[in-house]
Amino acid sequence: MSELNVSIVTPDGPVYEGKANMVIARTKAGELGILHGHVPLVAPLKIDVVRLKQESGEEWIAVNGGFMEVNGEEVNILADTAEREQDIDIDRAERAKMRAEERLQQAKEQKVDEIMAQLALQKAINRIHAKKH
Ligand code: ATP
Repeated sequence: MSELNVSIVTPDGPVYEGKANMVIARTKAGELGILHGHVPLVAPLKIDVVRLKQESGEEWIAVNGGFMEVNGEEVNILADTAEREQDIDIDRAERAKMRAEERLQQAKEQKVDEIMAQLALQKAINRIHAKKH
């Protein structure tokens, strides 16, 4: 099977550079499975896991929004933050999730920053999901 060259980059630097047989990512228009020869595209991503299918199995990367560009065999993802499974601090994500849930609860009672709390909750759940798959 022809391989893709995958790069996942954040403002802090590269998170992943390597090959994959298939990249599965959730764009704002729905889930996409990218194989070699996919039509070129640029798509905004949701806060979700990007799955890299390889001979040896699947690698899951928690990606926080950003964009994916597909061009020939190149798949480039530029995101605000991204973490590989082994780099996710699960305790930190669990604490972030609890803080976000408390803020959401307060938002219901006092209408403080509900959208920010929802985004923080999504990020934390995504990290936990990537780590625990
Ligand atoms: P927290 O509330 O725990 O600080 P956050 O969602 O505010 O998390 P971000 O602003 O999204 O954090 O990310 C800041 C930096 O910390 C990024 O480099 C991101 O990759 C890293 N990061 C955030 N949470 C985790 C985690 N649970 N494990 C590993 N790295 C993390």
